[in-house]
Amino acid sequence: MADIQIQQIRKTYARGQEPAVRDVDLTVRDGEFMVLLGPSGCGKTTLLRLLAGLERPDSGRIAIGGTDVTDLPPRKRQIAMVFQSYAIFPHMSVFQNIGFGLRMQHVSRSEIQQRVHHAAELVQLGDFLQRYPSQLSGGQRQRVAVARAIVMQPAVLLMDEPLSNLDALLRLQFRAELKKLVAELNTTTIYVTHDQVEALSLGDRIAVMRSGSIIQVGAPMDVYDMPATTFVGGFIGMPPMNFLDATVVSANGHTTVDLGGQPLDAPDAVRDLAGGDVTVGIRAESIDVWDQQEPSTMPARIEVVEPLGADLLLTVSVGRQQLKLLTRNDFPARPNMPISIRPQQDKLRWFDAAGERVAPAG
Ligand code: ATP
Repeated sequence: MADIQIQQIRKTYARGQEPAVRDVDLTVRDGEFMVLLGPSGCGKTTLLRLLAGLERPDSGRIAIGGTDVTDLPPRKRQIAMVFQSYAIFPHMSVFQNIGFGLRMQHVSRSEIQQRVHHAAELVQLGDFLQRYPSQLSGGQRQRVAVARAIVMQPAVLLMDEPLSNLDALLRLQFRAELKKLVAELNTTTIYVTHDQVEALSLGDRIAVMRSGSIIQVGAPMDVYDMPATTFVGGFIGMPPMNFLDATVVSANGHTTVDLGGQPLDAPDAVRDLAGGDVTVGIRAESIDVWDQQEPSTMPARIEVVEPLGADLLLTVSVGRQQLKLLTRNDFPARPNMPISIRPQQDKLRWFDAAGERVAPAG
């Protein structure tokens, strides 16, 4: 069992500086693949280093597999780490690199042979064991780093942006391989990235961080579909969630929201904000579009047409506001064209003035 319990962890690097990690609580289940996602400087790496024991927290506790490791040095935590820079030894062969940690632990020669071969097979480097890092591609070097970590059979695998030095195609390929590998190993894994596509595609769950705090934890598609705040909705998704400003109007016991001249029924939670402003969030793929006038739609105008292959990405203006929508590539779109749009009612997400989601609840 190697679940992870992080309780109220705080880390400040220097006096007078804002905490890099502020009172974070997080539970990672045994065998789970958890992704820490957030913009640069939000504290992801610091949280990972706290877990690894490379930083000491100001306060809070960390337990791995039920054992409090807060005061244990890194080598006693049963963790292995893979970094963005592969940090493999250039003067050692692939075999020696992968087996290095085992040699340090005085594991027997025959066991090293067996475990290194097994780890190398898992990352598809079985035929490269005698090569040196200079004779490998970037993707192969990163596989050496992954093999070096998994050969230690850690209770917890920590990865800090391991794909970010690879080119786009290699990233895509290695991402899928990594997902398969981690699923096979069934090792509790925490993976840091600022790349939301990576987070969506890899994680069993995602913890979205901002300014040292975790804002939302959930399964990738839940976080995508029901962002807890406008920040999360704007950070996850390509394009990001659209946000439209609207005013809540209450008359004769009926509450509506005026969105681009089109009154929308407001959910109960929004009624409490009557007279105030709300932000309506809607994903680009959840807006229906017509090339002619339609009843009960909003008039809009196409500004930019971007073909993406299967879809067209349209930037459209609705009154003074702008939004992006995705439609099929056979839609007869051209710039300046008047169109009619209608957000799918069940896909509307409602946020208060502070950017917190008020509806749907939960
Ligand atoms: P990135 O994606 O850019 O790596 P991150 O989310 O991993 O960012 P951290 O590296 O954890 O963020 O940094 C969080 C905050 O702590 C930042 O404001 C950073 O400047 C600060 N910080 C990180 N390491 C140190 C350090 N050794 N000394 C002082 N401040 C630090």
